[in-house]
Amino acid sequence: MNSQMPISGGPKGTTSEQQLRLLADNLPALIAYFTINGLMCQFANKAYVTAYGFTIDSIVGKSVPDVIGAEAYAVIQPYILRVMEGETVSYERPLILPDGSQRVIEVNLIPHIIGDAKPQSAFVLITDITKFRRAEEAIRESEDRMRKFADATNEGIVFFDSGIITDINEAGARLVRLPVEKIIGRQILDFVAPDSVETVANNIRAGFERPYEANMLRADGTLVTLEFAGKVIVRDGKTLRMTVARDISERKQAEARIQFLAHHDILTHLPNRAMLLDRLQIMLNVAKRQGTQVGVLFIDLDNFKTINDSLGHYAGDQLLKRLAQRLQACLRSVDLVGRLGGDEFLVIISGLECTEDVIPIAEKIAECISEPFALEGQTLGVSGSIGISMYPQDGENTDTLIRNADAAMYLAKERGRSNFQFFMPSLTKSAANSLSIESGIRKAIKNVEFVLHYQPEVVSQTGVINAVEALIRWKHPDLGLLGPDKFISFAEHRGLIMPIGRWVINEAIRQCKEWLDVGLRIPIAINISAVQFKQKDLVELIAANLKSYDLPGELLELELTESLFLEDVTAMTKTLSRLKDLGVTLAVDDFGTGYSSLAYLKRYPIDKIKIDRSFISDIPYNADDVAITTAIINLADSLGLQVVAEGVETQEQADFLERYHCDYIQGYLVSYPLPPDEIFAWMKQRKFVIAV
Ligand code: C2E
Ligand code: CA
Ligand code: CA
Repeated sequence: MNSQMPISGGPKGTTSEQQLRLLADNLPALIAYFTINGLMCQFANKAYVTAYGFTIDSIVGKSVPDVIGAEAYAVIQPYILRVMEGETVSYERPLILPDGSQRVIEVNLIPHIIGDAKPQSAFVLITDITKFRRAEEAIRESEDRMRKFADATNEGIVFFDSGIITDINEAGARLVRLPVEKIIGRQILDFVAPDSVETVANNIRAGFERPYEANMLRADGTLVTLEFAGKVIVRDGKTLRMTVARDISERKQAEARIQFLAHHDILTHLPNRAMLLDRLQIMLNVAKRQGTQVGVLFIDLDNFKTINDSLGHYAGDQLLKRLAQRLQACLRSVDLVGRLGGDEFLVIISGLECTEDVIPIAEKIAECISEPFALEGQTLGVSGSIGISMYPQDGENTDTLIRNADAAMYLAKERGRSNFQFFMPSLTKSAANSLSIESGIRKAIKNVEFVLHYQPEVVSQTGVINAVEALIRWKHPDLGLLGPDKFISFAEHRGLIMPIGRWVINEAIRQCKEWLDVGLRIPIAINISAVQFKQKDLVELIAANLKSYDLPGELLELELTESLFLEDVTAMTKTLSRLKDLGVTLAVDDFGTGYSSLAYLKRYPIDKIKIDRSFISDIPYNADDVAITTAIINLADSLGLQVVAEGVETQEQADFLERYHCDYIQGYLVSYPLPPDEIFAWMKQRKFVIAV
């Protein structure tokens, strides 16, 4: 061991020298001391000598190039010139060890300066910084990856601190249509539309408890609705807020559009039945308070069918549109005009002092209808029959008033059309034939004159059968096979739907089980009328039938109409979740025609929506229908619901629906509703899994 510490001016006592040597030898760094003039090594610690293959004694007196080799010397040489000038130098360099491993070292050259003289000798201190460099590299790589990932997603990712944007990805920048560098450093609130400032500020303050929506102002002044989901990140004691922003304008527009359509007739854009009923109710409430009267005018065109048949649907539609405009123009803005369907319109006049006040209005309407229409190069004369019922004398509620106005309209038709008639109480009694229908239905229930026909619903991409819908028919002893439109609504009004519905539930479940027993596992969908749904024992009834036939609940699907979902939320939630507990599938029938409050789609455990036939019939030609249908499909998709298109009649419609990812289709194109044996044969022929 070299006991001579050669450092002039260094510690003298042997103990200190030994201590220093001990310290130096135990450090992981490589330490050496050499003369500048002659580059002679005077001291080296254990780590140093081991690294260069010497011993502590044999290294003393060796020249630096001899110790470290020519290559390393070439690197160190220029630095030594600087050390001579008294400068402390440090540099990094890669090193390949004899075992082949790669390291990074940091070399420090420290001149030994005494007084004002130029340094005569210097220390060299070499540390292995491989670990630090690798850690840094890893961080850089991970940051790089994060950024690449962040830039690749379509969702905007924004970081901000005290309201200032500290980072944003490409997608985020695209949302506000500015380059990234023009956004970083700005206030987040600079980009928020005035109506959303409070929302955003509150949510930032609340630490993003839940996702929220806000309108943002883009650089070009346009608005975009974003959904934000945020997170508060605490890093190095600093609070950083991160938020993910998603453009939901399209979904919003689709929702608004469906909302509009739920309350308006597509063809004329007039309020539809649902909205008319709603508004009429409000007008009745006002009239009751004010002691005024309300006139309900039911209008039906006299010769619309002839026009439709002779000039075609397009001309018919044009006529209805023009008539809608005329009606609106000839009424005051406070009056309401809407379309009930087909060529039926409803006008509601409120604030009337007496019944006679409605007469000039009815006359004006009749006049505006009979004004000739120029259509398809022809001049057409049209006339309408108008039936009038008055609140409060002809009815206290919306249903009665409309029904009575309808009855009065028939009277107008009987009395030679093109006129208006007031409702008379005797009119209800004149519906004598309704009595015979009623007794006929009662008999039919007793004698079971009903049958179920089945219409398949198939996967639009593959044509594979997904389910069949049961549609009731009445085998009338005199009139032959009657469709549900001839008796269901009547039965509902007369309290006869329950026994019919009970029969349908039993029969469908029985049939499903019969098929299952021969190896055909196919879910059956049944239509549940609103009246039937509200009965207390519906769930029990279904449960009991499933049990007695030992049929799994997932083979039953219930089709419910939208109007139901407006009912008492608590009761509805309870019934629906009890039905879900049975395993049955819940579908919304005739979607888009009812009173859609879209909230119900999210609120209730619904599995499926069936787009009403009226939206499908004119695709892909009618732009409105195309827009609505695709909007409904997207909406269903975003809510995770299955979607079925009803009434698909042409290959073109089917192709369109397949292209837009509608899950299932149903309609005459695939099959008409068929009696049980025929549908069974059809399914077998389709090679639908029949395996026992
Ligand atoms: P829905 O539930 O919308 O049933 C579809 C109706 O559209 C059926 O009429 C079917 O025959 C018809 N349809 C199917 N594909 C096409 C097509 O491609 N083009 C056209 N133009 N029509 C098509 P259906 O059988 O006359 O039934 C009418 C309505 O009666 C049903 O409408 C449903 O609301 C009701 N209904 C049927 N069976 C029952 C039942 O057992 N109980 C209750 N409560 N209502 C029923
Ligand atoms: Ca249905
Ligand atoms: Ca339907």
